[in-house]
Amino acid sequence: MAITVDIDREVCIGSGNCVHISEGSIELDDDGVATVVDAERATIDQLRRAARSCPTAAITIDGEQ
Ligand code: SF4
Repeated sequence: MAITVDIDREVCIGSGNCVHISEGSIELDDDGVATVVDAERATIDQLRRAARSCPTAAITIDGEQ
């Protein structure tokens, strides 16, 4: 099953935690808000850690096995 990573732009404060953990799956855009570049670059465990590391709980992961 494909993994879907959703980031709530209204909630993200641009801390960058998820960027460092997600192996390039998530980057900060020109507005300093996290955006999904390619969810397949990271493992599901890395994406889970990225979501847990978010101080504002902006990241939702769907499609986990
Ligand atoms: S960890 Fe959360 S608040 Fe920080 S950049 Fe990522 S989505 Fe935004």
